[in-house]
Amino acid sequence: MSIDATQAPSCAARPATSGVAIIGYGVAGVNCAIALRCSGYAGPIRVFSSTSIPPYSPILTSYYAGGEKSYEECFPWTEAELSDLDLEVLADCPVEHLDPAAHLIATPRGDFSYSKALIATGARPATWGYPADADCKPLVLRTMEDAERLKAALCTEPRPRVLVSGASMVALKALEAALARGCQASIVGVNPHVLDFNAVPETAARFERGLAAKGVKMRFGTSIASVKGPEGGPYAVSFANGESEEYDLIVVAHGVVSNLDFLPEGTLALDRGLLVDRFMRTSDPDVYAAGDIAQSRELITGESRIIGIWKNAALQGAAAGKAIAAELVGREPDGSDAFEGSFITNTIAVDGTLFISAGASTLTPERRAVIEESEDITVARIYERTADGTERLVGFNLTCDEDIEGSRAYDMGAILTMRIEKSLRS
Ligand SMILES: Cc1cc2nc3c(=O)[nH]c(=O)nc-3n(C[C@H](O)[C@H](O)[C@H](O)COP(=O)(O)OP(=O)(O)OC[C@H]3O[C@@H](n4cnc5c(N)ncnc54)[C@H](O)[C@@H]3O)c2cc1C
Repeated sequence: MSIDATQAPSCAARPATSGVAIIGYGVAGVNCAIALRCSGYAGPIRVFSSTSIPPYSPILTSYYAGGEKSYEECFPWTEAELSDLDLEVLADCPVEHLDPAAHLIATPRGDFSYSKALIATGARPATWGYPADADCKPLVLRTMEDAERLKAALCTEPRPRVLVSGASMVALKALEAALARGCQASIVGVNPHVLDFNAVPETAARFERGLAAKGVKMRFGTSIASVKGPEGGPYAVSFANGESEEYDLIVVAHGVVSNLDFLPEGTLALDRGLLVDRFMRTSDPDVYAAGDIAQSRELITGESRIIGIWKNAALQGAAAGKAIAAELVGREPDGSDAFEGSFITNTIAVDGTLFISAGASTLTPERRAVIEESEDITVARIYERTADGTERLVGFNLTCDEDIEGSRAYDMGAILTMRIEKSLRS
């Protein structure tokens, strides 16, 4: 599956038209294009994509690597749907430089002007902390190419012994893929538990018991110190705690870094991501940002944060599209179309053990956790004292020993999420 790059005329033949530029063809970019067209914008939309394949879901990459999804299933939009958007897609055309003052985008195929631009370039995996002199180049997971590499590595015979470094959602998804392929899997994390920053110790510990029951070996509070071995393995891995073990394959999931290398320093207001208002406008009135590179309002704390989840990227892309369409016809964007903020939600199941969380999971002097353990579920509800002395639910996380759709755990997750939303409104 690939985009026909030849459909896009060469830069030399192209007049310097402007219109809307979308940098990054992921969920945020696609939703911006949908919102533009649904808002009546009929002008040119030029999409710059660093890849040759149509927009896909990074969420599904681990399921593809693990054999639970086919390659085709990783593409949420059909060719016909994308074609209805009437986009000029420049495939394999990464943006190399953005000059907001000149309204100019530089690419390997030349320079392009724009009236309004959306930056929706997402993030890439980071390998911070992995030894620079390691003999094994680690695998990471974000793109379909990453997934192809992981799939091929997990499918070798005999099945590889896999070490996953990191204990976040992406790390656990890679671990799940390894288990699904029948590999012997281990995980190592610097924090005391799995599910970094998403779980309280009690729910994380229940999740770890679930992993242990499936034969996963876990090391916490330590990291990989060195990796030695011939090309292709096996690799002797030494840990900072003095232990060592042999592995055939290492996957690293140590967080992500925003794809903003094309943006000259100081051009747009930036923290960990691009700072945006409720219409996804950056500090430049003609440049918008959405998805994993945008830092918007986190509703529980009121702080500006990147919330790297699919729904957020989709809603932000849509809000940007509607605002751009309004501004291009000289209207102020409508307040009802604004993106007012969000909070983090997570659902993950690894080989039958289910974890669901939403909102806050860390404790502060104003917060307390109420833990409830039953035969098959541990749930932590996080309450926060408000200025008027009452308490509101600001988060929960739960682990269930089984993953059954429509089960009590899923109902509980949905109801608690709804209660957080309600408490934010009141
Ligand atoms: C393994 C994994 C599991 C996940 N699981 C979940 C989950 O269960 N639930 C959930 O809500 N979220 C999950 N996420 C997060 C979710 O996938 C992201 O939040 C979402 O995809 C962000 O969308 P985006 O459009 O901002 O970025 P992306 O989907 O990354 O799209 C950005 C696009 O921009 C392109 N690009 C980058 N640089 C350039 C450039 N210079 N020029 C042109 N194009 C460029 C990239 O190639 C990419 O196609 C997961 C992510 C991963 C990696």
